[in-house]
Amino acid sequence: MKKNDVIVIGSGISGLLTALALSREGKHVLILEKEDHIGGVCRSYEVDGYRVDTGPHAITRLENGPLKELMDKYFTVVPQFVPFGKYYVRIGSEIKTFPWSINAWLTFSLLPMTDRLLLMRALFNTLYLLNAGKDFSNIPLSEILPDKVSITTRRFLDWLCYFMVGTSIDNAPISRFIDNKIHHPHVVPYVGKLYDLFITEGAKDQGYPKGGLQSIVNSILASFPKGEVEIRTNEKVTKIECGERVERVVTDEDSYEGEMVVYSGFSSNLPHLVDCDCLPLAYSQNLLSIKKVRSLTIWLGLTKKIFTKYGSEMWIDSDPYAWVIPTTNYDPTLAPRGNQLVGFAFTLPGEYNASTIKKKAFGSIVNNIPDIEKHIDMIHYQELIPEKASWGLNSGFGDVRTPIKNLYCVGTDTEKRSAGVNRSAYSVLKCLDIMKSDGNL
Ligand SMILES: Cc1cc2nc3c(=O)[nH]c(=O)nc-3n(C[C@H](O)[C@H](O)[C@H](O)COP(=O)(O)OP(=O)(O)OC[C@H]3O[C@@H](n4cnc5c(N)ncnc54)[C@H](O)[C@@H]3O)c2cc1C
Repeated sequence: MKKNDVIVIGSGISGLLTALALSREGKHVLILEKEDHIGGVCRSYEVDGYRVDTGPHAITRLENGPLKELMDKYFTVVPQFVPFGKYYVRIGSEIKTFPWSINAWLTFSLLPMTDRLLLMRALFNTLYLLNAGKDFSNIPLSEILPDKVSITTRRFLDWLCYFMVGTSIDNAPISRFIDNKIHHPHVVPYVGKLYDLFITEGAKDQGYPKGGLQSIVNSILASFPKGEVEIRTNEKVTKIECGERVERVVTDEDSYEGEMVVYSGFSSNLPHLVDCDCLPLAYSQNLLSIKKVRSLTIWLGLTKKIFTKYGSEMWIDSDPYAWVIPTTNYDPTLAPRGNQLVGFAFTLPGEYNASTIKKKAFGSIVNNIPDIEKHIDMIHYQELIPEKASWGLNSGFGDVRTPIKNLYCVGTDTEKRSAGVNRSAYSVLKCLDIMKSDGNL
């Protein structure tokens, strides 16, 4: 049995970034992946001549975020990003740009004027109380919502909660929207996320990777130092055997030893993989109470360019809520010449019937764009988990550090900062820091 410096379980973006960083820090890394492909929910593949991603993606914080930090330090081949463009809000047949500034908010006519004013008042009251020391981490956003606001305004905020936190307005903690100290340490803490919304004009440093999401994975693979990273696909880890330390990682094919082990699957599965005697009960119970975020994406290949705006659309009155991205507007090579490829990402409730929800979601597309059906050339459905943990009230959340000395976790259920790929990147940076402080790196 060959002993590895590090065993990384899972080859999603978190596992790959960890393997890249550690291999470039001089470690020999073995990656074990249960599927026959690598990349997890951050990859692309071909469907009938179209290159679809695992869900539509905006890669955020490209100027100074954690992914950028890892790219600068460890990538020898860097993916190319094209600007992500504007966010448009669609309500009924009306479309307007997302109101990033106070000024834009006050003139954002898709929502009633009284609602906009009531919300401003609620917001400033909240900031006042926050500044006076009130803790908003266990209070849902709905609690500060004025009773009188219209259903459309409530749906607008609910949409934001689902896409930013992975849960509803009744379950999303206010602190998620106002606590942004980490991103802007020089800003008065309570201004928090509002600083992003109202002062920076929002989504400036966001991009779409040319060639699709796969180009990020390909850049990582091309940056691995020669001979230092071994990847084994179709190897599902079924047991992590440990005492005080991990002794062996067992797959359905073989077993492996490593000085350190980094797990990037669902933290909620960890108690099933590790002998329960090694994990304190409270630790396991917390992991088992994590709630995953679920989504359905419908990809449509269209024979006509129906979405002409450069950017993405937030569909507020769609049921379920939708975020719509025509990826060929960023890179026309993703579809056969002259055709358009569009991803419609829908939020999913905890419990759902797959065929019913697919019909409902498809119906919502046709309702919003009645003309679309006669231009459909390809249709492809994906049911995926965008974040391994929602940041809702009363649900568990994982951590990078585990009670076992040489076992670490990375992924979107181990770190609360940011979201998606950047949340993964934050977890990897944190993992590297902890390994250093443990004397393992
Ligand atoms: C529809 C959708 C839209 C999204 N939009 C955005 C966006 O706009 N911006 C953004 O930044 N992010 C977005 N994301 C989120 C982003 O893609 C994910 O957060 C990120 O890719 C998660 O990476 P990960 O490595 O943590 O997890 P995963 O990709 O889930 O990787 C985990 C890997 O571990 C493997 N594994 C698990 N258990 C085992 C085991 N026992 N043995 C071996 N292997 C195992 C899995 O097979 C998988 O390959 C979106 C995701 C989706 C689905």
